[in-house]
Amino acid sequence: MAESLAEAVSRRRTFAIIAHPDAGKTTLTEKLLLFGGAIQLAGEVKAKKDRIQTRSDWMKIERERGISVVTSVMTFEYGGNVFNILDTPGHEDFADDTYRTLTAVDAAVMVIDAAKGIEPRTLKLFEVCRMRDIPIITFINKMDRESRDPFEILDEVEEKLALDCAPITWPIGRSKTFCGSYYLAENSVRGNDTQVEALKVNGPRAVADRLPENERQTFIDETELAIEACRPFDRKAFLEGHMTPVFFGSALRNYGVRDLIDALGDFAPPPRDQVADTRIVHATDDKMTAFVFKIQANMDPNHRDRIAFARICSGKLERGMKARLARTGKQLGLTAPQFFFASQRQLADTAYAGDVVGIPNHGTLRIGDTLTEGEQLVFQGVPNFSPEILRRVRLEDAMKAKKLKEALQQMAEEGVVQLFSPEDGSPAIVGVVGALQLDVLKERLQGEYGLPVSFDMARFSVCRWISADQPADLDKFITVKRGDIARDLDGDPVFLAQDAFSLRYEAERHPAIKMVAIKEYH
Ligand code: GDP
Repeated sequence: MAESLAEAVSRRRTFAIIAHPDAGKTTLTEKLLLFGGAIQLAGEVKAKKDRIQTRSDWMKIERERGISVVTSVMTFEYGGNVFNILDTPGHEDFADDTYRTLTAVDAAVMVIDAAKGIEPRTLKLFEVCRMRDIPIITFINKMDRESRDPFEILDEVEEKLALDCAPITWPIGRSKTFCGSYYLAENSVRGNDTQVEALKVNGPRAVADRLPENERQTFIDETELAIEACRPFDRKAFLEGHMTPVFFGSALRNYGVRDLIDALGDFAPPPRDQVADTRIVHATDDKMTAFVFKIQANMDPNHRDRIAFARICSGKLERGMKARLARTGKQLGLTAPQFFFASQRQLADTAYAGDVVGIPNHGTLRIGDTLTEGEQLVFQGVPNFSPEILRRVRLEDAMKAKKLKEALQQMAEEGVVQLFSPEDGSPAIVGVVGALQLDVLKERLQGEYGLPVSFDMARFSVCRWISADQPADLDKFITVKRGDIARDLDGDPVFLAQDAFSLRYEAERHPAIKMVAIKEYH
């Protein structure tokens, strides 16, 4: 019998892994996919990355700097559930891309290096999750190496993140002697990840003989203390974002990964409600709705295609169906939606709320776009951050101005840069949140469009979206400040200021004008 929508939705778990670079996100992703059977051999994720890199010029930057610039999605099944991992780029320069990805998940796994504790990037990503009340499961990685004391790590999480910790497992042994997880509430143990089920035992004392003699008593004392003193797990507090269940393991040596997958299945929520302008959309609502949170171009350089990554918010997407694009009101045929597995893409015949599909298109879809089966609604909350660096693009070959304009428009639609067209007709200004985005833009303009460019300082360094309750006030401001006004990709006006001081000055002089640093797509 065909699966009902409610059943299909309840099996979905869509999450991101957040971590400071080097904490082990890639290794953990590989292992999750490995246990999920999505790949045969761990290492294939990286191998695949390398293959793409050698074929694509602009990814040279990624290779040179050893960072991951590409956001993607990976799907696997395990224990009856369907997991969608949304990869978040690790480098802080890509903040806005990462934030948008986090609007599309229902939970996050926070990977912490057991020797380093909370690092700056972890903290920043955590703050975004908190803003959106995303429940977090904590994985303390690299227990096979010299690590900090587990109690100390838990204290640090509680203090730095103001997040209650509920350790579900406790490490058996440390560094060289690390050999498994002890389930505190159940009194059961799992050795490495080849062991599918945890085995009941009669307390910590019963497993102490897995450790060298001189470590046994410490293990027993510590584990008994953890059982007695640590907070019990409270799922409600977890779902509200106040408490995190904690696991200890080693992604590299295959410890704790199965604990983590089980936790994602048991604790992490199925697809959440999403806020649209006209109503709250429930995942189990019959009709399909989705929003685009990411655009990626030239994934296959032979086919200049563009993939829009859409998170399905409700209902069921079926290949061949028509969808209404809210921004234009036009119909769009979903003839070739795709799923992404570790090593391949596959046509998606059916996808359910919670799933992420790639929709190939030639520029019809933009970040923040809403798709429905006809209903007029628009999802709120895919943010656009005001750029912190503004530059004019200087073209080495003036004959190619038109081509540059087209290329910049495409890059902007993809979210690589933001593009602002000044009201006074002067050349376009590009805005980025982090400097690395400029390098990516330069490489791609050269590599994909044959346009060598450099960047000139703009007269401006701050940019704010402007609006007013009375349209006349806005019109007047735009007229008076014409030389400092530009339009973004959607035609919305922005005010460009020389620096924070002049921004404040103008804001005080024009109280009727609202100036905001974050624009929510609508
Ligand atoms: P990412 O930057 O967060 O994606 O981190 P990677 O997964 O690339 O890991 C960074 C480094 O740490 C690599 O050299 C991994 O082999 C290593 N690593 C990852 N997990 C573990 C672990 O559990 N134990 C040890 N000893 N090394 C690990």
